[in-house]
Amino acid sequence: MTSREIREAYLNFFKSKSHHIVPSAPVVVKNDPTLMFTNAGMNQFKELFLGEATVKYPRIADTQRCLRVSGKHNDLEEVGIDTYHHTLFEMLGNWSFGDYFKKDAIAWAWELLTEVYQLDKDKLYVTIFEGDTSEGLERDHEAFELWKAHIGEDRILLGNKKDNFWEMGDAGPCGPCSEIHYDMRQDAERATTRGQDLVNADHPQVIEIWNLVFMQFNRLKSGNLEALPAKHVDTGMGFERLVRAIQGKSSNYDTDVFQPLITYIADKANIEYGTDEKTDIAMRVLSDHIRAVSFAIADGQLPSNNKAGYVIRRILRRAVRYAYTFLNFRNPFFHELVPLLANQFKGVFDELYQQQDFVEKVILEEEIAFLRTLTTGIQRFENYVTDHTSVDGDFAFELFDTYGFPIDLTDLLAREKGISVDMEAFNAALNVQKDRSRAATVIDAGDWIMVGEEADVEFVGYDVLKAKTEIIKYRKV
Ligand code: ATP
Ligand code: MG
Ligand code: MG
Ligand code: MG
Repeated sequence: MTSREIREAYLNFFKSKSHHIVPSAPVVVKNDPTLMFTNAGMNQFKELFLGEATVKYPRIADTQRCLRVSGKHNDLEEVGIDTYHHTLFEMLGNWSFGDYFKKDAIAWAWELLTEVYQLDKDKLYVTIFEGDTSEGLERDHEAFELWKAHIGEDRILLGNKKDNFWEMGDAGPCGPCSEIHYDMRQDAERATTRGQDLVNADHPQVIEIWNLVFMQFNRLKSGNLEALPAKHVDTGMGFERLVRAIQGKSSNYDTDVFQPLITYIADKANIEYGTDEKTDIAMRVLSDHIRAVSFAIADGQLPSNNKAGYVIRRILRRAVRYAYTFLNFRNPFFHELVPLLANQFKGVFDELYQQQDFVEKVILEEEIAFLRTLTTGIQRFENYVTDHTSVDGDFAFELFDTYGFPIDLTDLLAREKGISVDMEAFNAALNVQKDRSRAATVIDAGDWIMVGEEADVEFVGYDVLKAKTEIIKYRKV
């Protein structure tokens, strides 16, 4: 089946189960102070779950474009390195608003996967919530009994709160969930280790594909749980992972969702995909990030130095950095992927097709500006390493402060040269700046805050801590 057929089969299946099919919401969220981007299919139905809006259709299904690049669900650092986390991905979902509950949700998921898509029953595993005494939450015995009708007991695994209790954010609707995992390892490898032991263990071939959430609670700002007025079902299935499972590929990027982009990039770079891990990662980053950046712009979020706009700018720059560093693109290239993508999503998400020229132009302008800074900074770096055997903290900080190099770029460039970066000294330099900024803000306008805490904020810089966590600093305006 092609990816188009797989998507259609999903929607048709739930249509046949009396679901109303709705369009995807934009990926940019404008009216919710707790969320910058749509990170799950359920976001657009939040009010329905909370009982704050009237239910017109008790059963709904769709494919929702989601972005997981900030806040509670942030996968950005994995993207391209692994082969199954994306920045923008489609989440196929079916919902019940006070209508069917666990029994039908489980039976239909099983029917769709094993009968319509013909996935191998012997490679499927499911998980149920094990319970959590600290919150007085019971094990999901009900889901366990229901799964037993479809799958052997030894394939029903217990999951902890991190994996089997879904929460949208720090507050909001939530509940226990059952996940479905698929073991895509080769037969020989499957014979050596049980799939049971690899579920939720970051194994690149044993992958979560679908999450069935049984919404029963609302988490209050205080952290306490209260029962929702009615019980609901909220499911989310990663479309690109599903396509990979059905098409029998060992990477999402090998499916027909990503191959047209990868092929185009590989051609233009004149480097074959699949020959070198570094260039492979770069091609995966580019083919992934163009989706996030393009749809964010099409949905109304231009790259900027503010909040959501800055997140998009960072993703765009991450792509340009990889293109520059590993694929030798010295001139703007990223924007060339837009027409390809727009065409691919024609009839699915027409928003991109309709604004193709505009999106392309915005990306091109960003590329030109960023390449200018990048070139100067990289030249500075090249000069530096001719007479240094490691990158000291002050220099890493200069690249950060003057050329906008996040520490991961400096680290990447240094590793390329086989030298190290003095992270401790870099962090110390960063702290000195932070103290300076803090002192300045006392006189200035107020305190530094994290994004999400305050609506009216202006971007003023960013901190990178321990190479992985980035705190974007904002100042009240
Ligand atoms: P994972 O454990 O793989 O990070 P998750 O548990 O965070 O996934 P859910 O919040 O349960 O994901 O989302 C529902 C489904 O969406 C997942 O089962 C998965 O198929 C898909 N999904 C989640 N995050 C991503 C991502 N970054 N890229 C692609 N698909 C994703
Ligand atoms: Mg995740
Ligand atoms: Mg998970
Ligand atoms: Mg999950």
